[in-house]
Amino acid sequence: MAAHSKMNQVASTPIDPTAASDKVNLLDFDRQGLRDFFAQLGEKPYRAEQVMKWIYHHLEDDFGRMTDVGKALRAKLEASCYVGPPKTLFDKAAADGTHKWLLGMDGGNAIEAVYIPEPTRGTLCVSSQVGCGLNCQFCSTATQGFNRNLAASEVIGQMWVAAKHLGNVTHQNRRITNVVMMGMGEPLLNFDNVVTAMSLMRDDLGFGLASKRVTLSTAGLVPMIDKLSQTIDVSLAVSLHAANDELRTELVPLNKRYPIAELMGACHRWIERRPRTSITFEYTLMKGVNDQPEHAKQLIKLMRKLPTGSAKVNLIPFNPFPGTRFERSDAETIRAFQTLLLNANVLTMLRRTRGDDIDAACGQLKGQVLDRTRRQAEFRKRLDQGQGVAHAS
Ligand code: SAH
Repeated sequence: MAAHSKMNQVASTPIDPTAASDKVNLLDFDRQGLRDFFAQLGEKPYRAEQVMKWIYHHLEDDFGRMTDVGKALRAKLEASCYVGPPKTLFDKAAADGTHKWLLGMDGGNAIEAVYIPEPTRGTLCVSSQVGCGLNCQFCSTATQGFNRNLAASEVIGQMWVAAKHLGNVTHQNRRITNVVMMGMGEPLLNFDNVVTAMSLMRDDLGFGLASKRVTLSTAGLVPMIDKLSQTIDVSLAVSLHAANDELRTELVPLNKRYPIAELMGACHRWIERRPRTSITFEYTLMKGVNDQPEHAKQLIKLMRKLPTGSAKVNLIPFNPFPGTRFERSDAETIRAFQTLLLNANVLTMLRRTRGDDIDAACGQLKGQVLDRTRRQAEFRKRLDQGQGVAHAS
């Protein structure tokens, strides 16, 4: 799904008036951080929790509308902090209900968050970095290089914006029931900020999602998988893509540093710490590269090393992007691959491609964003020329 949330440089980003000030963005704090900040203001912890509910349950960013917060505290808050979600540059809905938002960051960067509705759940795909440095060969983010880590506020801000737009009502009729850290970037390389954001996704005073509904996806940073298992209760997805080291190193260069045996070791330790959970192994199917029966057999062998029921395979048909040397496996090959796994009792799901008509499927977003870059440039030119622009999308 990764490339779901592609980011890119856009020609101009609206200036955020609060960004230049030294006010604190409350979206950067988890519950404890917020309590500490309120303590610095000389306020009781329950006040922090009251404000937290306004921010995440009512999706309120205006202290003036937080009616049960006293006037004096509101004034104090206005002087020292703000609730600063990323600005929406564009948003677009696909015919199948998939929705994506292009969100403006500082320095002309933009990221995309994608919402994928299904009959029984709604999943938001969230990014963790601007660009990515891991250079996975089949991922369009790799072609953009690494720019910077997202702040916690920018990670949780993607959910805040989407929830507000979708009319998410926490603890009632939730639109976003699941979050996957499968957008742009390697979340374990932005550990602290991602953990803060995920703790807000999990927290009852935040978005209140159960641990199995918040999933972090990693290319396999072994030490950080161990650290994560001791830090926060969320679900784990591992981007495997090949079950032999030679091929995996070619596809996911990080495999050279943390080969499959070490990665599986970390997965074992994860399961030992969470016996009743499972790990999702993502496997993007590329024509003639990793989709042959021999590859399925290698995968089966690897999955069998984990305790029964603790591994799920998620097959993702490759989504092409401009300039890629890979192709999507054909439907028959995909079916055959899945059948081999299922016959060997490996729990296997096939991820359907969604949002094609708005280029919101995995790995498809770059061209679209570049397009938007041009649009942004035109938008800016027209503004510079003093012409009014109603809406650029
Ligand atoms: N860095 C993390 C999270 C981002 S990638 C990780 O590697 O897991 C999340 C998933 O997106 C990956 O598992 C990969 O399967 C998928 N992905 C990336 N590019 C893709 C493409 N072009 N087509 C299909 N899936 C892709």
